[in-house]
Amino acid sequence: MKLISTLIILILLQNSSIAQSILIDPGHGGEDCGAKGKLWKGKTLKVICEKDIALSIAKIIHKRLSKNFSTYLTRSLDRTVTLEERAELADKIKADIFISIHINASTSKHSHGLETFYLDNHDNAAVRKVEQVENKNLKGEQVIINKILADLVIDRTAPSSRKMAKLVHTELSKKVSKKYKITDRGVKPAIFYVMALSKRPSILLEVGFISNTKELKKMITKKFQTDYANAVALGVEKYFSKQTAPPLL
Ligand SMILES: [Zn+2]
Repeated sequence: MKLISTLIILILLQNSSIAQSILIDPGHGGEDCGAKGKLWKGKTLKVICEKDIALSIAKIIHKRLSKNFSTYLTRSLDRTVTLEERAELADKIKADIFISIHINASTSKHSHGLETFYLDNHDNAAVRKVEQVENKNLKGEQVIINKILADLVIDRTAPSSRKMAKLVHTELSKKVSKKYKITDRGVKPAIFYVMALSKRPSILLEVGFISNTKELKKMITKKFQTDYANAVALGVEKYFSKQTAPPLL
């Protein structure tokens, strides 16, 4: 009898891991190019959009994680998706985690490095990041509503978000930062409304700086994108393996 109940528990645990649902969110899209980088190709200056690099990397992560998880993209094409639509999709697919992919930009051509943000509001730097980046399309009442929503959601999800961020970033640090000589800017708390609205444990990855020519040249290669995506996927796999480790019987 004990053996049967043990087997049932194991089957249930296995099923729960199959049902895990991941939403990958390539930032921007369609009319929204995101940050822009410039590269000379011969005599022509080529403009490269953040949305395209984000989509390429997101697709590779999606492909790899689809082997073991129910994995979705907020967009698989170059199209406009609002922050609200991205969050609604998280509800629709009952996502367990939300991963947003972005490319950083700075007015200084010298800013460089990769960094991982997780949803948390217990830090002044996190709040400043909201004011700079994510509020730019939101006004008045909407901002206040979102701030209240963010507070409630963050308290519930912050520990999981932090854990996932650390696991993913450890892989990025080992497999991307060192290999490609890209500075490791670390794991940081931040409030991005797209993460708060998704109401899930969330991370937002800034792959590198599109405004830095050296980093841009690396980020547009398939090799870099694959290594980056594989590191993210490995971190996510570790996150779930820790979540669902069967209890000692
Ligand atoms: Zn972005």
